[in-house]
Amino acid sequence: MQAAPIQRLIASLSKLPGIGRKTAQRLAYFIIKSDGDYAYELSDAIAEAKKNVKYCSVCGNISDRDPCEYCSAPSRDQSVICVVQDSKDIIAIERTKEFKGLYHVLGGAISPMEGIGPDDLRIPQLMARLNSAVTEVILATNLNVEGETTAMYVARMIKPLGIKTTRIARGIPAGADLEYTDEATLSNALEGRRVID
Ligand code: ZN
Repeated sequence: MQAAPIQRLIASLSKLPGIGRKTAQRLAYFIIKSDGDYAYELSDAIAEAKKNVKYCSVCGNISDRDPCEYCSAPSRDQSVICVVQDSKDIIAIERTKEFKGLYHVLGGAISPMEGIGPDDLRIPQLMARLNSAVTEVILATNLNVEGETTAMYVARMIKPLGIKTTRIARGIPAGADLEYTDEATLSNALEGRRVID
């Protein structure tokens, strides 16, 4: 039997994505047994991050400022908005150094299985940003069923506005998460994006 405080730590750690019970147990013991102040540093870093990180009111990105570093940078091309599911996808696209426009984070993808509908995503916020200065919207949602459904839905919403809507595609295998797509492939997919009509 494990002591109650250790059980609590294991239970908390196993809620993290990709962490099973076994790994949670290993991490819990590592943290407890670690030398010096590591355990306190870790808990402090988590608390600080949670307290100081905010969502950009324009694009929905996670940042330490509002508007975020992309929305507030005059050097970014204001005429192109790249729509992604998650803040993590921005990091993936930035790594390609291919894209210089703005972003919009939807906060997920349409998934009837998980009970996520269009109303649960930041689609109205995207529509509100589509003024005459915007000439293209790139749909860079994941290449799985949910991502494709979401891209098609957003494309249909934008169509009446007459703004060019494109979808990343080339080279990315079906079912892929942007987050785990390498830079060269993602760069290629951005460059080879096709118009949705
Ligand atoms: Zn922003």
